[in-house]
Amino acid sequence: MIQTGLMMEQPLLLSEVIEHAATQYGDVEIVSRETHGPLFRYTYADCAKRARKLAHALDQLGLSAGSAVGSIAWNNHRHLEVYYAVSGSGLVMHTCNPRLHPQQLVYVINHAEDEVVLFDATFAPLVKGIAAHCPKVKAWVCLADATNTPAIEGLAHVLNYEDLIAPHSEHYEWPAFDERSAAALCYTSGTTGDPKGALYSHRAIVLNALVLCTPAVLALSSRDAVLPVVPMFHINAWCIPYGAPMAGAKLVLPGPRLDGASLYELMESECVTVSAGVPTIWLSLIQHLEAHKLRFTTMRRTAVGGSAMPQSLIAKFADEYGVEVRHGWGMTETTAVATMTSLAGKHDALSPADRDAIVARQGKAVFGTQIKIVDENGRTLPRDGTAQGELMVRGHWILARYFKGESSPLQDGWFPTGDVARIDADGVMQIRDRSKDVIKTGGEWISSIDLENAAVAHPAVAMAAVIGVKHPKWDERPLLFIVRKPGQALEKNEILAFLTERVAKWWVPDDVVFLESLPVGGTGKVQKSDLRKQYGGVFC
Ligand code: AMP
Repeated sequence: MIQTGLMMEQPLLLSEVIEHAATQYGDVEIVSRETHGPLFRYTYADCAKRARKLAHALDQLGLSAGSAVGSIAWNNHRHLEVYYAVSGSGLVMHTCNPRLHPQQLVYVINHAEDEVVLFDATFAPLVKGIAAHCPKVKAWVCLADATNTPAIEGLAHVLNYEDLIAPHSEHYEWPAFDERSAAALCYTSGTTGDPKGALYSHRAIVLNALVLCTPAVLALSSRDAVLPVVPMFHINAWCIPYGAPMAGAKLVLPGPRLDGASLYELMESECVTVSAGVPTIWLSLIQHLEAHKLRFTTMRRTAVGGSAMPQSLIAKFADEYGVEVRHGWGMTETTAVATMTSLAGKHDALSPADRDAIVARQGKAVFGTQIKIVDENGRTLPRDGTAQGELMVRGHWILARYFKGESSPLQDGWFPTGDVARIDADGVMQIRDRSKDVIKTGGEWISSIDLENAAVAHPAVAMAAVIGVKHPKWDERPLLFIVRKPGQALEKNEILAFLTERVAKWWVPDDVVFLESLPVGGTGKVQKSDLRKQYGGVFC
């Protein structure tokens, strides 16, 4: 008979993470770029104290367990305190992506039922535009002191963070509850229809952060200084804000300054050893280094994901600058990293180019997740490096159901990712394509369908199609195809101006091609593959 083990059981809760950092690594620094410019510096012990003060303040605002608290913020120390105060006190941390179109932002805030929203001063104009449409939000809090909190026209009472937490005690009894309780909520970028919410549990995040610290993933330790460029407003900054305090690593938060020069300066001045972000960021960093003939002094490795890291960029980092690239794959629905490339001893004898080619793939399933590829009938395909099919994933931190979703998206217990991949005999996975036609630009999604719908709304447009065209800086940019209605004289500037009114600025296509007709397939769908073949060159 199988017996129950006789070990203690404690729920895996995020409050334990910040308290562990405060007691074990209390003097380790957090360095944070303030939204108004200067660097701010304190320790994990200080961070925990301020998170506890905020937890009191949230209690006093009358939020009940399980209520959602939104943030629209950069990677900075106050956002980190909010992460812990909200989740630790049994509320749900809803990180909002400020790059969403304001209408989508309103949608996610209302869908999540956020009762309080904390925002950086940068996003005050955004808040001004959306606040009236978010009736459940009873407090808007600017993540600043009184001096740096702007007045927002139409919002009678904007609280400032420092005044909000000031009166409260730095002692707080974090509640104990079921580790499966919701800790954080992040919405997909609405590639088809409305954004969908991934509701992460405490257990999922703690387990993911633990694995993040292992040598197979980011190998975080108290010898490291970590700079997450990946935003805290999207997929929990790949759980680095949880992994770094667990490991006692110094945390360096870049705030709004994400250009190559600012990142390099911060990496050097704060002796950063590990970083993480999307390929576009690394492209601008490398361009800065090359232009100014600079070298890294302390940087050792960097995690890259969100879109495929080109091998040429991997070679630059690894072979020219001595920075190891860890190329991972994950999605909003996987909490953070699900697969990661890390080279083994058996690869030491390979040439640098052969090693870089392995790193250019998205890697092996990390402990806690499993992957497979299936054909269109759901049959598992071989791991032979040749067969390609839809990537399926399951594990401790993989979504089982969307927030308020009526049915589960799972197929036989696996999450269908919509990505097309190969897996080789060594278990290394390579993303080949996306089954959806979304456009990935600078690490963010643009929905081709939404853009097409917006274009077709113009009275002179008969048909519209959008494809992603390779771009040297942004990975991809949208190219719009228009078939005019007979007798209409619509021109490029007019349709782009029309779209500018309806979609986020960075969604507006870089160019427009007018055609007599679009290629249409047997089922009446536009054949985008044909358009890609003919027009999928490179924007410069
Ligand atoms: P999101 O949920 O917005 O983070 O997007 C997740 C999607 O990004 C995945 O389904 C992939 O299509 C893509 N993606 C993430 N990481 C990679 C990677 N390393 N290489 C290629 N595509 C990636």
